[in-house]
Amino acid sequence: MNIKRYFQSEPSNVGSSLSSSSKPSKIDLDDLPRDPSERKPISSYHPTQKDGIRLAYLLRGPCQPTEHDFPQTNYSGKLRRFNPDWYAGEFGNWLEYSVEADKAYCLYCYLFKESGQSEAFVSEGVQCWQKAREKFGGHVGKCNSFHNKAREKGEDLVKQARYIDVVVDEGTDIPKRQ
Ligand SMILES: [Zn+2]
Repeated sequence: MNIKRYFQSEPSNVGSSLSSSSKPSKIDLDDLPRDPSERKPISSYHPTQKDGIRLAYLLRGPCQPTEHDFPQTNYSGKLRRFNPDWYAGEFGNWLEYSVEADKAYCLYCYLFKESGQSEAFVSEGVQCWQKAREKFGGHVGKCNSFHNKAREKGEDLVKQARYIDVVVDEGTDIPKRQ
C-alpha cells in the first residue's frame, strides 16, 4: 500500500479556512517516532496532516518489541516485568511497549485521544506488570469506552485507505472527499 500517495491526496480545501501562514510543515511518515514515549501528541500536528499520520501509524501497527531485556520492577518483594506474551490475544491490536520508558501504551488511544480522556495509556504510559491483564482489560472497558470509540475510528480510517488504495491500483482518479 502506498501511504504517501494517500497522505498527499488529503483534500486541499480542508485547510482553506486557515491562514496561509499556518501551512503544514512537511513530514516524512517514515521518520515518525516508533517508541511510544517519544511521539508528539496528535493534536500538535497540522489538521490536514492528522489522518495521514494516523494512517501511517495504523499500517505500521502497534510498537511491540520482543527482542528486549525487559527490566524487572519490585512489587512488594515480587519481581515483575513486561511480558511480550501480552501482545497475543485480546490486547494484541493496540498494546504497545516503550523500551525507552519501560511502560505500556495504547496505539488507538494515542491516535484518537479525546478531550477529557485519561493520558494514562496515551502520553504518560502505564507500568502495571502486576495484574497487567486486569489493568489492560480495564483500559478497554465497555463498548462505549474512549478506547473502543478510538478503535472504531482507527478501523474506519484503515478501511477508507484500503478503498483508496484499490482505486489507485486501477489507475483511476482518487475520489475527492466531500
Ligand atoms: Zn486504548
